[in-house]
Amino acid sequence: MYRTHTCGDLRIHHIGNDTTLSGWIQRIRKLGGMTFIDLRDRYGLTQLVVDEKAPTELKTKIGELGREFVIQVNGKVLERQNKNPKMPTGDVEIDIKNIEVLNTAATPPFTIQADTDGGDELRMKYRYLDLRRDVVRNNLVLRSKMAIAIRNYLDSLDFIETETPVLMKSTPEGARDFVVPSRMNPGEFYALPQSPQVFKQLLMVAGFDKYYQIVKCFRDEDLRADRQPEFTQIDCEMSFVEQEDVLNTFEGLTRQLFKEIKNIDPGEFPRISYADAMDKYGSDKPDTRFEMLFNDITEIAKGKGFAIFDKAEYIVAINAKGATNYSRKQLDALTNYVKRPQVGAKGMVYVKYNEDGTFKSSVDKFFDHNDLKKWSEQCEAKPGDLLLILSGDKFETQEQMCELRLEIGRQLDLIDKDKFNPLWVTDFPLLEWDEETHRFYAMHHPFTSPKPEDIELLDTAPGKVRANAYDLVINGVEIGGGSVRIFDSALQAKMFRLLGFTEEQADAQFGFLMDAFKYGAPPHAGIAFGFDRLVSLFAGINSIRDVIAFPKNNTGRDVMNDAPSTISDEQLKELYLKVVQPEKKQ
Ligand code: ASP
Repeated sequence: MYRTHTCGDLRIHHIGNDTTLSGWIQRIRKLGGMTFIDLRDRYGLTQLVVDEKAPTELKTKIGELGREFVIQVNGKVLERQNKNPKMPTGDVEIDIKNIEVLNTAATPPFTIQADTDGGDELRMKYRYLDLRRDVVRNNLVLRSKMAIAIRNYLDSLDFIETETPVLMKSTPEGARDFVVPSRMNPGEFYALPQSPQVFKQLLMVAGFDKYYQIVKCFRDEDLRADRQPEFTQIDCEMSFVEQEDVLNTFEGLTRQLFKEIKNIDPGEFPRISYADAMDKYGSDKPDTRFEMLFNDITEIAKGKGFAIFDKAEYIVAINAKGATNYSRKQLDALTNYVKRPQVGAKGMVYVKYNEDGTFKSSVDKFFDHNDLKKWSEQCEAKPGDLLLILSGDKFETQEQMCELRLEIGRQLDLIDKDKFNPLWVTDFPLLEWDEETHRFYAMHHPFTSPKPEDIELLDTAPGKVRANAYDLVINGVEIGGGSVRIFDSALQAKMFRLLGFTEEQADAQFGFLMDAFKYGAPPHAGIAFGFDRLVSLFAGINSIRDVIAFPKNNTGRDVMNDAPSTISDEQLKELYLKVVQPEKKQ
């Protein structure tokens, strides 16, 4: 028997017991003639002690130990002289009688404890050592608990967990596919799923009624800060439901998770339309933990001879309450912030509503007291407040103002890190126009149904058609999204046409789905949550990397095993593949 207890078990009531523990040596300290060892396993740390009077043989063995050696010890549980209230096992220590080295260890490249000295790259390279640290492993424990809570909830509602293929036919979801060559079908490729979208819809045609899967998905995208090429979704689909049913079911799931995992009741989730979210927050994933809503001052700010405003399609102001004391330097820094290429504004106008009721603005040459008073009324500003204003093309300006709002929210410390503000964003546009390729793209995916009242617009003004599509947003992060699906093959065919597919292309890619729809497809709708994001939100950390056991770095590499890698000539030959070396960059 390797152990009678774990390193997290022993308490004051175990005093006098004989115990056997196994684990890793975190630390060895010598104090006078005594040696103290912190023994670690997944469950905690226990202090071991060997005193001067121990037999020489034991003392020799102890002298040969090193950090991260795997040992088994046997001894008596003693009450500790210097108790450590910070450790659950801090009342006791083990007086070692026997010690067995189960395995030696090379000196680890960084210290394996909460505050490690290892940098990011090093810890990724030795991820299995990093995972020995509580702070890292706890995120994975949370992940496991959440997965179980999700399964229990969906199972209680009769969802069927069904696995769908990983080797499949390419289905466009807006990103590039990862592809896998087929040895048995020379020159042909599978794609890894960007999502099991088509399969889950086919399961509805099959009468499964309610499907779910916690499933790996793959997207070959240029990696931005918080993306992974492979990620996990909680993927669901339901039959004979309307949008309302899906929202209620998944609001229920989310609230259950908050209750079970965090003991929080976030209350009913507010709903906001995409159009309102853009008008009030300049974002389809608004952070509603603080107010500071947008105020459209286009009408009252134009026509006073300030060319920048006069030319602008849209002029928007936010009210930074109580910030009139912002210095010139701070305002310049804010202007520079919005002018960064990532934000892209050309400049920023400010209006200080001074405590004495006067105004001071960066556009005093063009606007008098009455003008500025009007703006401030529109923004419900009071003496002491600061208005920040951006102008230009509507959509771009909204996006820029969203960034400025978040930045000033951070600066004024308005974002409560302990708060969770979930909300549903609904009524997304069905289609998105792309200037470069001069065509429409599906904003969600091609299977999303238009709102029935907007169907007529499909022929006249497709860009105006709203979809039965919805996103769950928490604290400014998109946690999931889904839609009511098209279940009529004629409407689906029309949708493909709008998206620029010829009949042949649509048939080649989705013929099987359109065929399936001919055999009695029920009305259906679904949703997928980003599981990694959800876990990181619950863990209170920014990066999804920290909730994935073996993540990739931001160039898509696994720095631990050095994937991706080249394959042998034989493998290439077997797959009928030839590697063309990329052209060297100049
Ligand atoms: N398949 C969609 C996605 O991955 C979600 C859905 O519509 O259910 O975003």
